[in-house]
Amino acid sequence: MNNLYDLVVIGSGPGGYVSAIRASQLGLRTAIIEKYQELGGTCLNVGCIPSKSLLDSSKYFFLAKNNYHSHGIFFEKLFFDFKKIMDRKNEVVRNINNGIKYLMKKNKIDLYQGIGSFKTENILDLTDSESLQKKEEIQFKYCIISTGSKPLCFPYLNFDIKNRIISSTEAVHLKEIPKKLIIIGGGIIGLELGSIFNRLGSKIIIIETMDKIISNMDDSLSKEMQKILEKSSIQIETSLSVTNILKENHEEISVVAKYHDGKKIKLTGNYCLLSIGRIPYTKYLGLENIRIETSKKGFILVNDDLQTSIDNIYAIGDVVGGKMLAHKAEEEGLYAVEHIVGQKPSKLNYDLIPSVIYTYPEVASVGQSENEVQKNKIAYNIGIVPMKILGRARTSGCTDGFLKMISHKNTDEILGVHIIGDHAADMIMEASVAMEFRSSSEDIYRICHPHPTLSEAFKEAAQLNFENRSIHT
Ligand code: FAD
Repeated sequence: MNNLYDLVVIGSGPGGYVSAIRASQLGLRTAIIEKYQELGGTCLNVGCIPSKSLLDSSKYFFLAKNNYHSHGIFFEKLFFDFKKIMDRKNEVVRNINNGIKYLMKKNKIDLYQGIGSFKTENILDLTDSESLQKKEEIQFKYCIISTGSKPLCFPYLNFDIKNRIISSTEAVHLKEIPKKLIIIGGGIIGLELGSIFNRLGSKIIIIETMDKIISNMDDSLSKEMQKILEKSSIQIETSLSVTNILKENHEEISVVAKYHDGKKIKLTGNYCLLSIGRIPYTKYLGLENIRIETSKKGFILVNDDLQTSIDNIYAIGDVVGGKMLAHKAEEEGLYAVEHIVGQKPSKLNYDLIPSVIYTYPEVASVGQSENEVQKNKIAYNIGIVPMKILGRARTSGCTDGFLKMISHKNTDEILGVHIIGDHAADMIMEASVAMEFRSSSEDIYRICHPHPTLSEAFKEAAQLNFENRSIHT
């Protein structure tokens, strides 16, 4: 291989592999370096895809057990095979993995397996992932760092499946269903993994140090989600901070914690899953060799064009912080490459990155929450439409949740949409499109929505905001 490239991408997660394909489409001679044999990064191997596969499988079981009878469907004997569920998940991951490898080949992107670390501002050392022995040097004109993130652990602990203290990475590879799983962290990952194992029979306890779960979303979503999870027997303990985690015996661990009012508690389970956040993964990059600047928390610092302190080296995705989401990483990758080739792409609107939680029902949100609108001292209207008023929600049987639209009181511009309900993940895109085009709620009210669909909730909420009444509420 002639190893001088226009662009070298480090990391093959959604940020990295999408950047590499776009670069090749735009005529750059491109290479990608990945530490693991498998491509796709956290998202494909231990994140979005395995968790959604397990969420889907466990949801079908949950619905068959709890909801199908209302449709007149009964099973004489209903059971699941956990190994088959995990094998299916592995197969889904493997297929997508092969798909990414195919895309690398199709786009003539050279793939280097190993660890990339900076020797100079134009040369990377490629070392073997196992032995850490240097294999070769790769030269580049431009580089995009897309090395992602790793799960955060308490400083006094290590993730260790033998000691039953696990992160999401181990959770999606478990060989048994924990009888009792204690989850520390009531954010997106904690709620999704808790839902999977709850549906498969685990007793779940979620510990959250804030006074509510999913605390960075609209308050109304966290309240409704808590109610729904508690209805499925998930125990949620808020305002509770963990002080220690102890191994009791070869099957049990204990979590010692203190409520904010000072009361202490000890909870015992079979595994403890920490989902308390993720940290940037810059180990091995050799950032110090070329003095790339990082924040106090270790995120790579970039300017508005995603350039690091070295102009020809860009950084994108989880490693630069912000919303740690696959679609944010992808958009940044596209931007960085288009900037490199001088296309002057339009900036990503960071205020309109949708967030989704794939629980049942799903939660999805874009734009400002009511708390943020209040903090920003903006006069606003709110339209809230309960899902149960929709014909489609009645026919499917999932009537939980609502859609909440926030619009500017004077201009009527839509400022935020927050949904909890079946298919919220797909529904949120109507809000994203509307908000990217700076629609008013009247615009949405006047658009014909198909009946019966869940999207009618948008029209109803828009009418509420626009003229304080709606047809069905
Ligand atoms: P990553 O996907 O982390 O990829 C980084 C890659 O770089 C890795 O393959 C790593 O091996 C490689 N690498 C690191 N250092 C080097 C080096 N020096 N040399 C060579 N290679 C290196 N996001 C969503 O949008 N939707 C979801 O539903 C969702 N669900 C999630 C569920 C879970 C359980 C988890 C943990 C995360 C989830 N996420 C989800 C977040 C999403 O996975 C990340 O935001 C996304 O993967 C970030 O992409 P990235 O390209 O920045 O990095």
